[in-house]
Amino acid sequence: MAFNSLCRRLRASSSRAILEGLRGRARYSQGRHTSAPAQRALAATAAGSGGSDDRRFWLWSSALVPLAVAASAGSLALRSSPEPSLCEAPDLDVGGVMVGGKGSTAYLVKGSHKEVPQELIDELVAICGENVTMDYDERSFHGKPQNSFHKAVNIPDVVVFPRSEEEVSKIVKSCNKHKVPIVPYGGATSIEGHTLSPNGGVCIDMTLMKRVKALHVEDMDVVVEPGIGWMELNEYLEPYGLFFPLDPGPGATIGGMCATRCSGSLAVRYGTMRDNVISLQVVLANGDVVKTASRARKSAAGYDLTRLMIGSEGTLGVITEVTLRLQKIPQHSVVAMCNFPSVKDAADVAIAAMHSGIQVSRVELLDEVMMKGVNLANGKDLPELPTLMFEFIGTEAYSLEQTNIVQKIVSEHNGSDFVFARDPEAKKELWKIRKEALWASFAMEPTFEAMITDVCVPLSHLAELIARSKQELDASQLTCTIVAHAGDGNFHTLVLFDPSEDDQRQEAERLNHLMVHIALSMEGTCTGEHGVGTGKMKYLEEELGMEALRTMKKIKQAVDPNNIMNPGKLIPPHVCF
Ligand SMILES: Cc1cc2nc3c(=O)[nH]c(=O)nc-3n(C[C@H](O)[C@H](O)[C@H](O)COP(=O)(O)OP(=O)(O)OC[C@H]3O[C@@H](n4cnc5c(N)ncnc54)[C@H](O)[C@@H]3O)c2cc1C
Repeated sequence: MAFNSLCRRLRASSSRAILEGLRGRARYSQGRHTSAPAQRALAATAAGSGGSDDRRFWLWSSALVPLAVAASAGSLALRSSPEPSLCEAPDLDVGGVMVGGKGSTAYLVKGSHKEVPQELIDELVAICGENVTMDYDERSFHGKPQNSFHKAVNIPDVVVFPRSEEEVSKIVKSCNKHKVPIVPYGGATSIEGHTLSPNGGVCIDMTLMKRVKALHVEDMDVVVEPGIGWMELNEYLEPYGLFFPLDPGPGATIGGMCATRCSGSLAVRYGTMRDNVISLQVVLANGDVVKTASRARKSAAGYDLTRLMIGSEGTLGVITEVTLRLQKIPQHSVVAMCNFPSVKDAADVAIAAMHSGIQVSRVELLDEVMMKGVNLANGKDLPELPTLMFEFIGTEAYSLEQTNIVQKIVSEHNGSDFVFARDPEAKKELWKIRKEALWASFAMEPTFEAMITDVCVPLSHLAELIARSKQELDASQLTCTIVAHAGDGNFHTLVLFDPSEDDQRQEAERLNHLMVHIALSMEGTCTGEHGVGTGKMKYLEEELGMEALRTMKKIKQAVDPNNIMNPGKLIPPHVCF
């Protein structure tokens, strides 16, 4: 993910005006969709590069190695078979590296690119009116990764911007009839190539569906459309003294957050998306609308369809309505910061704080390289040492009591420079350091991309996981920064690499693989919160076993027999019955 792209996305996602602009650009007259130039453009770009079949074959055969590398990190569309065959990952020997196939470290995500029939385009225009586009820039914007280091080798053929659940249902029904793939699209802040369109098809941009449908202050819940961003929702809720406690990437939408089962810095206190969604409405692949639960806080009524959909990454349906559990804005909070001689000491303190019985609301770990980036980016002079940041909430007395308990733990574990802030401006200033840490990393290598890792282990293994990973990261020639949601056993590394240097990308991938394997050896997971997308499929068999994957695939086939919902994502291609 390049720095510029991140900034662009942040601006786009946090500004209503720009969203309106995007909306404006999406509106074209009906004539435009059916015109010959548009159709020619559609045909030309449908294959991704605009070339003929021959040219595509040449690309495939002569550029196999770079494609294999791209495929290992992302997705690849070929017109080699009429239907996507998720069961037949090819075992290709590319210069001694096995690509695809069971046991491989890299999967080739095969897709068949089917031309979108004019009949479907006409149907989409009839459903969405002017909110349909085949404009190349718009399709390209939706097809290229905005915040993901995975490469796009294809883009959607059409982008639609539905305004209601009814429109979504009709769109999906039409796509199912024509067996054309669908990629639901929210804020595009996902990291693992979730929104790529390896098979072209129809991208359903949900960002026009952003209404708050009902706020129940007494019940502390809210019913929203999926395109609303978590930041916008919190602006809306603030006057009511309420907030929604998950804070992933700026610009992320509630629908995308459900679909990735995201979390964030407050998950240690409030749980992840899994814990904060009461019910959903979902459009299934045949266009049917399913309500997964009532608005009751708990229910034992049958299979838990809500949790099935949460984390399904758009592969089982399009989420069209979400009922969320809300929290009271805390009366008081304290933000604290302290330094340690090693990341292991810092991780040990995070664990000890969790064991002390207090309810920390945030505990975030930044290593010394990240602190160097923070200083560079902000013109600060903070100690370039492993650092922990805490937030304590509650009444004034309780927040201070928690602060004192943790200060004592810090002093017992080689910690130093314990500072804390109670004044709103000072707290904002301290917390800004953590919030902007990702951008700060790019201050060290502004033109590079970042491979972002996301492993998570049982809490007792966190210190060892970070210490072992850190040894490898320090030994690498690449710049690597660490930031961890330490109270959950979840940590990220930003491995900065020059995208034009293949050996640097490979080194970044090596480090990523290595950390995943250390985490898996500790009963951990390859993804604590970012999800699978295309990037993490290759680890799922090792983490979950083949039977679990076959069960997932049976569910997928039952609800989406034509495999139109975000194909090529989440379920590894070699899973067969
Ligand atoms: C700077 C930065 C910081 C981040 N920090 C965190 C963090 O702390 N914690 C964390 O968990 N993540 C984090 N992320 C990752 C990202 O913000 C989350 O994965 C987020 O949940 C994605 O939401 P989105 O709206 O951007 O989804 P998108 O990227 O648009 O889509 C993600 C997936 O959801 C599907 N989808 C989208 N909308 C729908 C819908 N309505 N119905 C069905 N499927 C849908 C898409 O098809 C895709 O598979 C961070 C990202 C960035 C760039």
